[in-house]
Amino acid sequence: MIKVAVTGACGRMGMLIIENILRSGDMKLVTAIDVTNTGKDIGEVMRQGKLDVPVGDAKDIDNILKMSKPDVLIDFTIAGAAVKNVTASARNKVNLVVGTTGFTQEQRKLMEDAIKSSGVAAVIAPNFSIGVNVFWGLLAEAAKRLSDFDIEIIEAHHNQKKDAPSGTALKAAEVISKTLGGKEMVYGRHGISPRQKEIGIHAVRGGDIVGDHTVLFAGDGERIEIKHQAHSRQAFAKGAVTAAEWVCSARPGVYEMADVLGIK
Ligand code: NAP
Repeated sequence: MIKVAVTGACGRMGMLIIENILRSGDMKLVTAIDVTNTGKDIGEVMRQGKLDVPVGDAKDIDNILKMSKPDVLIDFTIAGAAVKNVTASARNKVNLVVGTTGFTQEQRKLMEDAIKSSGVAAVIAPNFSIGVNVFWGLLAEAAKRLSDFDIEIIEAHHNQKKDAPSGTALKAAEVISKTLGGKEMVYGRHGISPRQKEIGIHAVRGGDIVGDHTVLFAGDGERIEIKHQAHSRQAFAKGAVTAAEWVCSARPGVYEMADVLGIK
């Protein structure tokens, strides 16, 4: 039985991940951590009936991990919080699945250094859906063949999303840029802004859109659009739980979802 801790347990992703853990036959939720609903039973917060797992206060994460001894911690919070949760998890020799997005380069380095020096294994991915991981591969293929086309990335998410552009859009830009030997990024356009050879990135926010990503390759007299649409957060939650199972038998190191899916 794999023992799992979830940080951001009361959030949209956290609660769905817990539902997946409860359905799985070989995983057990040993602790749920958040900054809201602390002390309440997580099952009752989720309106699923008592689970006898109280929501632990993120401020006490070190003690909570020492007491509950999880094999893996799954974090879907916000960047600043995730850095604290990830370094605490690494300190306590707990493997990691990190779905939080919006990290600065410094935050990303802090997490990776903590993971590498502690000898745990971690999967860090801005998107855990199978579709998006295949989508990134398709973008590399298209960029290779359409290197002189204009490239624009348009993403749309719900009105509660805090970071912009999305981690998935940034990763799409990184994949294309790497394929083309380095590209400048331009985030939105306003006023006089003639197009150069950049990758344009645009973020739309509204309603309850789960997550749309379109990459436009536009040439003379034609264009190709490669698009991924998430219909439900279940696509991410299922992937994160699969990654949690995988990371418990992985060698120490930092991995991507493509490693879990075997499509690297
Ligand atoms: P959300 O509904 O706002 O949930 C985040 C939860 O984390 C909230 O309950 C929040 O509490 C809590 N939190 C804040 N600080 C914390 C801390 N120090 N320790 C523990 N919990 C803390 O957001 P969401 O929609 O679930 O998304 C969470 C993150 O996952 C975002 O970065 C999002 O971009 C990312 N995401 C990634 C994927 C993927 O596949 N990788 C998919 C979807 C979303 P408060 O509300 O009180 O602050």
